[in-house]
Amino acid sequence: MGGEEEEVLRIAKRLDKMVAKKSVEGAMDLLKELKSMPITLHLLQSTRIGMSVNALRKQSTDEDVIALSKSLIKAWKKLLDASEDKRDEKKKSSLPASSSKETGDSRDQSSIKRQESVKTPTTPKITTFPPVPISCDTVRGKCREMLTSALQTDNDYVAIGADCEQLAGQIEDFIFQDVKNTDLKYKNRIRSRLSNLKDSKNPDLRKNVLCGVITPEQIAVMTSEEMASNELKEIRKAMTKEAIREHQMAKTGGTQTDLFTCGKCKKKNCTYTQVQTRSSDEPMTTFVVCNECGNRWKFC
Ligand SMILES: [Zn+2]
Repeated sequence: MGGEEEEVLRIAKRLDKMVAKKSVEGAMDLLKELKSMPITLHLLQSTRIGMSVNALRKQSTDEDVIALSKSLIKAWKKLLDASEDKRDEKKKSSLPASSSKETGDSRDQSSIKRQESVKTPTTPKITTFPPVPISCDTVRGKCREMLTSALQTDNDYVAIGADCEQLAGQIEDFIFQDVKNTDLKYKNRIRSRLSNLKDSKNPDLRKNVLCGVITPEQIAVMTSEEMASNELKEIRKAMTKEAIREHQMAKTGGTQTDLFTCGKCKKKNCTYTQVQTRSSDEPMTTFVVCNECGNRWKFC
C-alpha cells in the first residue's frame, strides 16, 4: 500500500512539474504507468493524482495525452461516485489487483473497458472489511493512536477480545472518507468520538463499539446526542430499583470472578464484563475470558 502511494505521488509530482514548466514531454509514459496501476479510492484521495492529471489534460495539445487523461479521470470519477452512492462499500472500490498485469506494455485504450468492468461488491461490510491501510498522514496516524487508546479505556476490550487498533483504523478511515480532509471538521469529529468513548459515565457506548453492536461506520457519524443516548436511557431506566441494580452490574466491567467455570481448563479464574446493547430493553451480554488459558466466550 505504502509503495503504491509513493509511486503515485512521484508521478503526480512529475506531472505537476511538467504543467508548471508548460512542457508536457514524457507525460504519455507517466499516464501509461498510471493506467497500469490499481488505483484505489484511498490512493485518489491521499495523492490527489486526479487534479494533476486534469491539469495536464487542460494544458496538453497532444490528442493521445488528452484522450488517455480523460479516460483515467473518467474511471477514477466512477470510484468517487461509487463511494458517495454506496457509503457502506466505499472501502472496497479498489480495482482488482490482477487486472494491472494485462496492461503492462500494451498501448491500447483497454483501461477504459477494464476500469468500467469494476463492480461494487455487495458483501456485508464488517466481515469482509480489508485490513485498514496504514496512513502516511501524520495527523491521521495520531488520531488513530488516540482512538485506539480511547477504545482501550478500562480494559473492557480484553474480555471482549476486540482489536482496538483495527477498530480505530476503521473509525478514522470512515471519518476521513466522510470529511475528505483533516481540517477543523475532521478534528472536531475525532475529538467528540474520543471524549465519548472515554466517558466513564457512558461505558456502554465504548463496549458496544468493541463488541460490534455499533459499527465503526456508525460511530464515525453519530451525533453527540446519539452517542449519549444510552446514558440518557439509563438515567430514565434508573427510576426503578431493578434498573439501578442492572446499571450497577453493567458498571462492574472487567471484574475477576470465580462464578464461571472455564469450559476448556475447568478452572474458575475468569474476568467478565457485561454489555448493555443499544436497546435498554434487551438483556445484557456477558463476555468472559479465562485468566488461566485465555479461553473466551459470551452468553446473553
Ligand atoms: Zn480456561
